[in-house]
Amino acid sequence: MLRRTAQTTILVAGGAGFVGSHLCEALLRQGHRVLCLDSFLTGSMENVQALCTFRDFRLIRQDVVEPIRLSETVERVYNLASPASPPQYQADPVHTMMTNVVGTGNLLALAEAHGARFLQASTSEVYGDPEIHPQPEDYRGNVSCTGSRACYDEGKRAAETLCFDYSRRERADVRVARIFNTYGPHMRPDDGRIVSNLLVQALRGEPLTVYGTGEQTRSFCYVSDLVAGLMALMEAEETPDGAVNLGNPGEFTIAELAALVQSLVPTAAGVVHRPLPEDDPRRRRPDIGRAKRLLGWEPQVPLSEGLPETAAWFARHLGRSLPPPVR
Ligand code: NAD
Ligand code: UDP
Repeated sequence: MLRRTAQTTILVAGGAGFVGSHLCEALLRQGHRVLCLDSFLTGSMENVQALCTFRDFRLIRQDVVEPIRLSETVERVYNLASPASPPQYQADPVHTMMTNVVGTGNLLALAEAHGARFLQASTSEVYGDPEIHPQPEDYRGNVSCTGSRACYDEGKRAAETLCFDYSRRERADVRVARIFNTYGPHMRPDDGRIVSNLLVQALRGEPLTVYGTGEQTRSFCYVSDLVAGLMALMEAEETPDGAVNLGNPGEFTIAELAALVQSLVPTAAGVVHRPLPEDDPRRRRPDIGRAKRLLGWEPQVPLSEGLPETAAWFARHLGRSLPPPVR
């Protein structure tokens, strides 16, 4: 980790989003100067309002697809700019693809010009509907380049290609994190992803929407663990040879997750099944051996702790009350 004495200027593209806002806060708390660049497509001012009180926090409203010019030199670039929730990245698929390809290209060019280290927020979606379980980094994936998820997962794959070509040509010191499903405070209530959907539905007394049978699995990482992993990867002395999975290997079916939510926020409305979206991966679980070995990182917050924290945050956010925890 960087020491407080050595202040570094860090660009966080996508810093007003769910993960980005937590990352900006953690970097500011370490004493760094943080430039948060965001178009506010899916991020919000609310996420970064409290950060505006830090003298070393600067907000730049910009789309990464447009050329990026900064008035100060940066030493680190985190690229988190991209919608991450399926309904949001499918709302304007061409722009999602451009964000991931042209936007990543613009930020890599900026890192090269500034001599800055670069971290790309890639995704477990590069593995598509995986035939290997759990997924190690050398698995090449099972992805459709024409389906409705392609704007995101193929966009992220192309972004990784750009990253590794910059790296091979020694144009920038590049690190790539493949992030698995992450949840926590600052997710938008209308985000559309599973954890926010189920918690918000339960708090509003609405039926919980389970797509398909609910037998598909995901592995859920709490946001503070992910942020610690991203920072460890950025500051690792040696550049890892290839991408690094960051996620929590605890794997749950969506039906199990819905039951956990119902135990935290009892609702009489029950569960309603909806059609499974196209190309929805059947299972997903990270092999985090590489992150453990190279970064000494592993998640600390199990779903049994992170989910109640997130439920409490959504309850406050929506002005609803949570029943007292059952002991
Ligand atoms: P998010 O939608 O909350 O945040 C993304 C941020 O990027 C938002 O603030 C949005 O306004 C901004 N943005 C989007 N397009 C932009 C553009 N063209 N120009 C400038 N800003 C733009 O999503 P998140 O969950 O915080 O995800 C952050 C990053 O991590 C994304 O790159 C995502 O692909 C990756 N990721 C997240 C998860 C997860 O489970 N949260 C999993 C895998 C990968
Ligand atoms: N899902 C669901 N109900 C919802 C939202 C999502 O059953 O209200 C399912 C979705 O089909 C997928 C899983 O939950 O199988 C995780 O979806 P999410 O959008 O959170 O992430 P991703 O599919 O990108 O992993």
